[in-house]
Amino acid sequence: MKQFYNLITQKFYYLFTSIIIFLMIMGLFVANPQYHHFGAGMILHICLVAVLSICLLLYPKHETHLFRIVIILICAAYFYTLFFLYSETWSTFIFLCFIPAISILFFDSKLFYFSLVLNSILIFLLFGFFSLNKQTSFYTYIKMDLLGNLMNFIASQVMLFFIFYLASARIKKQQMYYEQIQQTERLKTTGQLAAAVAHEIRNPLTVVKGFLQLFEKDASLSEGFKKNFSLMIDEINTAEHVISQFLTIAKPDKDKRMETVDVAVVLQSVTDLLKSYGLLHDNHIELKVVEDCLIAVNVIELKQLVINLIKNAIEASKVGDTVHVKTEKVKNEVEIQITDDGNGMSEEVIKSLGTPFYSLKSKGTGLGLMICYNIVEKYNGTIQFISSIDKGTTVVVRFPYHHI
Ligand code: ADP
Ligand code: MG
Repeated sequence: MKQFYNLITQKFYYLFTSIIIFLMIMGLFVANPQYHHFGAGMILHICLVAVLSICLLLYPKHETHLFRIVIILICAAYFYTLFFLYSETWSTFIFLCFIPAISILFFDSKLFYFSLVLNSILIFLLFGFFSLNKQTSFYTYIKMDLLGNLMNFIASQVMLFFIFYLASARIKKQQMYYEQIQQTERLKTTGQLAAAVAHEIRNPLTVVKGFLQLFEKDASLSEGFKKNFSLMIDEINTAEHVISQFLTIAKPDKDKRMETVDVAVVLQSVTDLLKSYGLLHDNHIELKVVEDCLIAVNVIELKQLVINLIKNAIEASKVGDTVHVKTEKVKNEVEIQITDDGNGMSEEVIKSLGTPFYSLKSKGTGLGLMICYNIVEKYNGTIQFISSIDKGTTVVVRFPYHHI
């Protein structure tokens, strides 16, 4: 419904719903053939109008998938009731064709396919029933050309499918575009921030560290006292590490030469380097590469990207698990995949990745992925996280293939 609200405001929703409710009530009382012999049919009609109206009015406060299913089922019940109660009114058949269209308003693809299948089954049953009972005098407008009506129904469902498919593809594209813009904005701000802050902090830190190192070597101080200095130096080293990570983002591009790089070679050297890091927790790295995976990047930055991703994969893995690293050429792109069977991430976490300082680790900096996003974007690549909680994560990075 979030997308729905982006398109039409809440006010418009209530206006639209009021019109629908008004029309449903009009249908109940204006020129209704059932109105004069008030029976079970009329009561059912009134009940369905009431229930459907309440559901539509309550929907903005309960935007759940289950509630959407309930609304679709009540709509279907309402339209089929109209169809059976008013057998002389041929236009009720149009409503039957349009039942899946209601889920288009909710932009819920599962619901759309559910209503499409449900409606098709019901219509086929209905037409099957008509073809077996030709002698009754009702629904002559359908029975006169059963096959033609069935074809029209199928055509209407195909049309709805196309409308839904194109609309949802467009919305997804817009959403992706919006997220990309947000990410770029974030990186731009952090880059500027990094340049300003990092330089200011690094210099005083170096001075303090220098003095601490001097004190550490001072023979007149006791060993117990000196221990504190090494603790302080360790903490300063951590701070320097964060700052240097920041600086990699802020550094001017001219320092970084672009060259044609074979991803397979880079992955080989990076995995060799990280093997010992993985062995700390008995994690192994399995590398699968094919040749001719050429891209145009700065080799140091590519290494930095892959190191960050493999380190995250190792850190997420359970003791003894293996991290799989793979590269191959897919169409006009070179794809790098890093897969772990670790703790995985929720949709919410994935959305926050790349935000400065976003880390769920006690000793994490939350800068690694921000650097990765920056590098990937710089070389016109894409990065995608496919993850499920407790099952693991696959990071897919794609760069344009470089022809030489
Ligand atoms: P850091 O590693 O310092 O925490 P990152 O930017 O590299 O910072 O990662 C941010 C967060 O994303 C991590 O704290 C972790 O929660 C999550 N994350 C990244 N990669 C994975 C992965 N492969 N599996 C599970 N969680 C991950
Ligand atoms: Mg990391």
